[in-house]
Amino acid sequence: MRLSHFSSANLVAFLTLGAQALFVRSSRDEHRQRLLVQRSDRLPTPIHGPHGFPPDNTHDNPPASGFHPPELPETVSFFHINDMHAHIDEWVGGAEVDCKDTHRKDGQCVGGSARLKSAVHRLRSENKHSLFLVAGDETTGTLFYSYHGHPILAEALNDVGVDGFTLGNHEFDEGTKGLAKFLPLLNCPILAANIESENEVVNTTVVPYHIYWEQGVAVIGAVTETTKTESRPGRETKFHDVVSTIQKTVDEILSTTNITRIVALTHIGYDEDKELARSTTGLSLIIGGHTDTPLGPMVGRDDEPPDGEYPTIEKNLDGEKVYIVTDFHWSEWLGHVDMTWDESGQVVKVVGKPVHLVQSLPQEPKLKAKVHEWREAFAPWAAEIIGHADVELESSNCKKEPCLFGELLSEQVALFASL
Ligand SMILES: [Zn+2]
Repeated sequence: MRLSHFSSANLVAFLTLGAQALFVRSSRDEHRQRLLVQRSDRLPTPIHGPHGFPPDNTHDNPPASGFHPPELPETVSFFHINDMHAHIDEWVGGAEVDCKDTHRKDGQCVGGSARLKSAVHRLRSENKHSLFLVAGDETTGTLFYSYHGHPILAEALNDVGVDGFTLGNHEFDEGTKGLAKFLPLLNCPILAANIESENEVVNTTVVPYHIYWEQGVAVIGAVTETTKTESRPGRETKFHDVVSTIQKTVDEILSTTNITRIVALTHIGYDEDKELARSTTGLSLIIGGHTDTPLGPMVGRDDEPPDGEYPTIEKNLDGEKVYIVTDFHWSEWLGHVDMTWDESGQVVKVVGKPVHLVQSLPQEPKLKAKVHEWREAFAPWAAEIIGHADVELESSNCKKEPCLFGELLSEQVALFASL
């Protein structure tokens, strides 16, 4: 990208990586805590694991012990995103900049929470039995998070309507204590089987898996073990081996329930998802995140080939097919896969493709208005010019090799630390 200037807001956003959350605990949170305790008391513990139960899971109240779903839908539709990285407003596809009127005129804007909400609601209306799942890394990446912190990210997600969320490494960017402020704000099960935390809120809010009884589906969460070095979980939270933990959890579900439709919602990366599929038994579907991997066919992204097929198919230890999907990043695409099982729990049909959330798709007006209000709050801060760069600050290669933008950033960090 070519930058003619730096704003102080951009610089601060990069320097802090979202460290400064403006978090205010509200009476609503206390109410949610009470709900959490009440719901935990009602649970059949062996089914939902040792960590309690998330709040406000309104559409799938846990059935009484010994419950057998009378009739499961043959097909369940899964919609999914990952690595949103606080892109709650639309942005310019391919250019990685904010969407302005000039871009809108040319139809270049994509994604954003309001467009995502419209798309999810439309798909829900067209597919009777569905789950919308988020595969981690909601935080860090734009000024919406740097300025407002967790509350608006949670508000946007809740507004879209999420059925399950797994943690990404960036959820720990403000430490385990920061994560503990975010999680109670979410109105859905928060899933991660391979973490163990001494933080009471995290320990009681995150569950290893959740069973969606209406769909007859169990979803297990997992987050990359590299979070230890890629973020700031501190010593409070430990990360266990993903493969062995998921297999153990699959075995527990199979031995304690009649559920055979088991899905992993992971934030471990595409190659690791394939390895997970090959190294385990019992999983039908893996919905992943972390590596921002485009899987195709991706209609409308013809200039750059995808990194794999949507869905990617691997064989598990029993020689059965496991389907793997992931959804690039920043809400530019919405993953959509329909899974059909027979009565014995075998997958008999899989159909899916990612949906490109292009500008011609409508944005839900109420959420769009909220996003606009949130942007207005930091607009003056973002507009402040604190310096100029006369050369192109290439950043696309920064994850692979030294880059000019990285050098500039490192110098600024050193300068900031010496103040
Ligand atoms: Zn990640």
